[in-house]
Amino acid sequence: MANHPASKAPRAVTASAVASEAARRGHPWIWQRGIVRGLEGAVAGEEVRVVGDDKVLIGHGLADPGSPIVVRMWTRGEQRLDTSLFEERIARAIAIRARIFADGRTTAYRLLHGEGDRMPGFVVDRYGRAAVLRVDGEAARIREEEIARALWPALERLGIESLVARDPRSTARLLRGPMPPDRVDVLEHGVPFVVDLLRGQKTGAFLDQRENRRRVGELARGRTVLNLFSYAGGFSLHAALGGADKVTSVDIAGQAHAAAQASFRLAEVDPNLHDFVAADAFVFLEQAKKKMTKWDLVISDPPSFAPNEKAVPRAITAYRNLHRACADVLAPGGIFCAASCSSHIDARAFASSLDDAALGTSELRLLEMFGPPPDHPTLPAWPEGRYLKFAVLA
Ligand code: SAH
Repeated sequence: MANHPASKAPRAVTASAVASEAARRGHPWIWQRGIVRGLEGAVAGEEVRVVGDDKVLIGHGLADPGSPIVVRMWTRGEQRLDTSLFEERIARAIAIRARIFADGRTTAYRLLHGEGDRMPGFVVDRYGRAAVLRVDGEAARIREEEIARALWPALERLGIESLVARDPRSTARLLRGPMPPDRVDVLEHGVPFVVDLLRGQKTGAFLDQRENRRRVGELARGRTVLNLFSYAGGFSLHAALGGADKVTSVDIAGQAHAAAQASFRLAEVDPNLHDFVAADAFVFLEQAKKKMTKWDLVISDPPSFAPNEKAVPRAITAYRNLHRACADVLAPGGIFCAASCSSHIDARAFASSLDDAALGTSELRLLEMFGPPPDHPTLPAWPEGRYLKFAVLA
């Protein structure tokens, strides 16, 4: 592993006019075309001094010359990257969560949200007494141990006993403490959940939907509920506990339903009173329409449809088609909750995929629209961070 002593003056790299302006506004990413010179020979994880096209210092960041994002910005002006900066930012991130989750009814949340907490490339999720670190990019991978060192004492003070790293390309790696059990029981607004820390999607669960799951719980009383793309049944369990008559969960991955049913049992809700269907949601909706089956509350939370900017038009069409299929199975007076986690589709574009022409009705209006929750902070100049949209129509 390369060593980057803080004492050595970092190399200066010059950003283009466009990239300089974005970086000054607080956008944390500089793309390859945004650096005009100075990056030749830099290695991943190396600290660089970023200078504007006007030769005025912008701040310091970490180079990642092999990635599309070649520099991630960490500081403004003369401030360098060192242990005390990492510790300070970690402490600040933890203090925010302590305030948000002061009631103790939520034990699974994002402790550190990368760019949004000004720690680009580093995400830490807490699941009770275990924490999971996910790094994004080669620079963060190289700095992983340094950040783990700054993190660990703060995590221990929170009562966290294990820190593991999860990487989409590899299995969990233990960084500190004993290996946590694969099954961890957590609380989300008082609702118990079983999380598969070592094998579940992302760091184990989709924590970003927590507030929306609570909202669905509050809307569910006396309604039949269809939860599409249900994964580990988060929306389903909140709905069941909120007094839904019956919840139908649909996911293409059958093993997700096993996790959902385990959470139902943990919450003392009989899973046999509800339906868990392993099916393609699009096919399921088509068949339900044919059978004229309807639900009073429909939730749609599909995986991202737009992996890049080029895919956006196709993704919008896919959302419109999905939303029509959902509206077609919505009972009169029903509620439709539509989510999107595509970062390339902003709130305005997503709302447009729910217009009257898309839904084939003028009976629905947009009651509320939510973005990411406060444990997933974003930067005003970084709209990519606000990838999560959750629309409630009635
Ligand atoms: N709502 C969930 C997260 C959903 S993630 C929560 O709150 O935790 C998206 C899910 O969609 C994954 O579980 C994936 O297995 C499922 N999925 C992907 N394509 C699908 C399809 N065509 N039909 C049904 N489910 C699908």
